[in-house]
Amino acid sequence: MKNEINAVLENMTATTPEPEDYTGEDGLLYCGKCRKPKEAYFAPDKAAIFGRDRHPAECDCQKTAREEREAAEKRRRHLDTVEELKRRGFTDPAMRDWTFENDNGRNPQAGLARRYVEHWEDMRTDNIGCLFWGGVGTGKSYLAGCIANALMEKEIPVHMTNFALILNDLAASFEGRNEYISRLCRYPLLILDDFGMERGTDYGLEQVFNVIDSRYRSGKPLIVTTNLTLDDLRNPEDTAHSRIYDLVLCQEKVQVKRELFTSIFCLMPHLFPSVLILSNISFHTH
Ligand SMILES: [Zn+2]
Repeated sequence: MKNEINAVLENMTATTPEPEDYTGEDGLLYCGKCRKPKEAYFAPDKAAIFGRDRHPAECDCQKTAREEREAAEKRRRHLDTVEELKRRGFTDPAMRDWTFENDNGRNPQAGLARRYVEHWEDMRTDNIGCLFWGGVGTGKSYLAGCIANALMEKEIPVHMTNFALILNDLAASFEGRNEYISRLCRYPLLILDDFGMERGTDYGLEQVFNVIDSRYRSGKPLIVTTNLTLDDLRNPEDTAHSRIYDLVLCQEKVQVKRELFTSIFCLMPHLFPSVLILSNISFHTH
C-alpha cells in the first residue's frame, strides 16, 4: 500500500524529460523548445510532506497543448448537447434542416425570426411568443424550425411538435396525462406546429385546451404556426373552439417590444406567413 502511494506521489511530482530538454542554472528541468521551466520548487514546508523539493510545471508548449485539448473537449461536449437537444426536441428529423443557414432569404419574416433568437433572453423574461399564420407552403413551419434550431445550438431546450402527435402520445402515455403535459411545459420554448388542423372530438379539444392553458400558466413562451387566418381564429365555429382560440388570441400584445419587431404584419399572407407577437403579460387583466 505504501509503495502504491509512493508510486502515485512519484507520478505527481516527477517530470519525464524530452531528449531536447535541459537543466537550467536553478537546477530545474527546462523545455528545449520554448525554454520555459517544466518544474517548479515546492515551498520548503510542502517539500517535507512530499519528500521531494520540486513538482512538474507547464512550459508554454504544454500549456498550449492543454488549452487545445480542453477547447476540443468543450466543442465535443457542446456538439453532444446540441445533438441530444435536437434528438429530443424535434418530432421529425427533417426539421433539423430548417435553419437560417439553409433559408433562401425570400421570406420577409426571417428577419423577425432572427431577432427573436438574438433577443431570446428578453423573449424568455417577458414571455413573448409568436403566432405564424399563412397558407400551405408559405414557410411558417420552416421559420419556427429556424428559431428552434438556432436556440438549440445555443443549448436552449426547445420542443417542436403538433397536436396530432400530442393527442397520440396522450392516448398512449404510460407516464400519465399530467406528467406528459408538465414535461411539455418545462421546455423554455414550446412550438405547436399546424395548430387548428386537429379534428375535434370533445376529448381531443379538451386536451388541446389543457395543453395551451397549462403552457400559459407555466409563464413560458409559446410559438404557434397555423393555416387558419386571424378571421378564422376570431370567429370560431363553436364554443369548444372559441375557448381554445380565445386562449391563444388573448395573448395578443403587439405593442410589446415593438422596436424589435418592425414588420409584425405581413401584407402577402398567401405568399408568406404573417406573425403576431404573443405575450401573456396581460393574461390576467385582458
Ligand atoms: Zn515548451
